[in-house]
Amino acid sequence: MTSILTTGELLREGLRRLAPALEQPQLDAELLLAHVLQTHRARLASHPEERREPHERVLYLALIERRAAGEPLAYLVGRKSFWSLELTVGPGVLVPRPETELLVERALALCSEAAADAADLGTGSGAIALALARERPGWRIAATDLSEEALRVARRNAGDLRIGNVEFLAGDWFAPLAGRRLHLVLSNPPYVCGDDPALRAPPLQFEPSMALAAGPDGLAHIRRIVRDAPSHLRRGGWLLLEHGATQAADVARELVVHGFSHVRSHRDLAGRERMTEARWG
Ligand code: GLN
Repeated sequence: MTSILTTGELLREGLRRLAPALEQPQLDAELLLAHVLQTHRARLASHPEERREPHERVLYLALIERRAAGEPLAYLVGRKSFWSLELTVGPGVLVPRPETELLVERALALCSEAAADAADLGTGSGAIALALARERPGWRIAATDLSEEALRVARRNAGDLRIGNVEFLAGDWFAPLAGRRLHLVLSNPPYVCGDDPALRAPPLQFEPSMALAAGPDGLAHIRRIVRDAPSHLRRGGWLLLEHGATQAADVARELVVHGFSHVRSHRDLAGRERMTEARWG
């Protein structure tokens, strides 16, 4: 005898399997089922009696197992919200985090010009560049990344979102911007210490290590960006860097040593200093 499979039963089964792994399994169980059924979460709740096919159960439980093992939900559904945008993401790019929206917020506050040149170094999925581009259609934004795979994802996001004022350039940090001076430079570079055990645990273990690990003190890439920024910023231009919760003082020192002024760190919603801005000249 085969039992009848319904949406409600599938959801309960997913929840039961996720519960030991996640503190709040409900949302993830629902989003994964909505993804498999290509529907909205609300429909799951309003139509729990709908009949399901066995292959839907197989697909769903496979995703549930991967989520229980710590794989980021964003990779499993291939999407992540950032700012006002829905982005495509995959294992070749870091999953955009809410705290990175602080960089976007500060850039918009620091520069109210309708026309400006900005750069997002190490753009990954394109999150920062595309959020700025959407808010400031008159800005020209250069988004660089060393990873061709990341640039493919970022270009696809720009196309899907019909954002045309971002140019994507392959290369290391400022390398593709030789000879150019910008009003704003933003970056969420790798800043995790190379020996941090967090790199080998979820969620970071599933994300590209080239977007995360940054030498023994986590500052290797930030130092390079700070060192090279003066030759790529206009007088009065701004550099905005995301960094780890314990790195604000080191980043500020680095900026002052290299001649930046108006150095100021900002806290994320959890109260941790997660980004620092500074003015050139
Ligand atoms: N935000 C990531 C973390 O949670 C780090 C991202 C990065 O290194 N840029 O540690």
